[in-house]
Amino acid sequence: RYNPPGDSNFLEDKSTKIFARKVADHYSARTNQTLEEREASPIIHLKKLNNWIKSVLIQLYAKRGDAVLDLACGKGGDLIKWDKANIGYYVGVDIAEGSIEDCRTRYNGDADHHQRRKKFSFPARLMCGDCYEVRLDKVLADDAPFDLCSCQFAMHYSWSTEARARRALANVSALLRPGGIFIGTMPDANVIIKKLREAEGLAFGNSVYWIRFDEEHADKKFSTSSPFGIAYKFHLEDAVDCPEWIVPFHVFKSLAEEYDLELVFVKNNHVFVDEYLKKPEFIELMRRLGALGDGNQDQSTLSPDEWEVAYLYLAFVLRKRGQSDQS
Ligand code: SAM
Repeated sequence: RYNPPGDSNFLEDKSTKIFARKVADHYSARTNQTLEEREASPIIHLKKLNNWIKSVLIQLYAKRGDAVLDLACGKGGDLIKWDKANIGYYVGVDIAEGSIEDCRTRYNGDADHHQRRKKFSFPARLMCGDCYEVRLDKVLADDAPFDLCSCQFAMHYSWSTEARARRALANVSALLRPGGIFIGTMPDANVIIKKLREAEGLAFGNSVYWIRFDEEHADKKFSTSSPFGIAYKFHLEDAVDCPEWIVPFHVFKSLAEEYDLELVFVKNNHVFVDEYLKKPEFIELMRRLGALGDGNQDQSTLSPDEWEVAYLYLAFVLRKRGQSDQS
């Protein structure tokens, strides 16, 4: 078990802010794609698979009328999923101004976005902010408590310092009702470290991604270093190109427990797919999303290189301790 130092030992310096800005600028600069551009993406099937994973998590845990907090909501790619779950209220927060703008446009349905559709059935509040720095419990005091919190493919951006990791979990915990659920996806540190140790140098990857660690990790041993701030550069073709941080899951789990968030499950995305793709309703969902092509139930349309990227991620579910009238 990782024993964290007391609150007063937090080290926040200028470089943390610079890195957070780098991440924000990277995502802000990514423009909306047309439907044609999206379909031509070298990782289109991976994107669809990730959408399927997020949809399954949402269908498993969102209930009609739920108040939902979406941390690092991005361009609002999950709005339709939440609508299908008939949620009652949605708050989305993201650090990237450009992404929140796109999210707003998508929610209002007044842009040339490819998915022209009816208005969303839930009211929403969309905000630009650093979810791992700001006291969201203060900012969102009037919106809380939430039944469900979601942080998809973004929790690892909080792991640059202990202070940020704690702020992230404190925010989730303070805003969830007792018995509320926290769902998310993030890189699987075990897989990344295993791949690093198998690699010849400090970098590895395939035709669609690469990961590169700094020289300081040349011995490839992380046992004595702090579990926060272990940075690497991640490049995913047509998606990501910015600094990211290793999140050792046992540290995440014990830190979450300190904030009254208990682990329900954690699964590598390969295991997640194997398990939930056995269920008829989720096979049908996969078919509709087209991740596996025209009705095939294997990985035939997802390239092996895309499937390897899926292996770099995990899905987790946590539950806020305590009883509630609704659980
Ligand atoms: N959750 C969305 C999804 O699944 O489509 C977006 C995922 S994208 C890979 C990562 C998102 O995390 C980006 O939109 C980025 O701006 C956001 N992000 C990174 N650091 C953040 C922070 N400190 N506070 C809020 N959002 C952050």
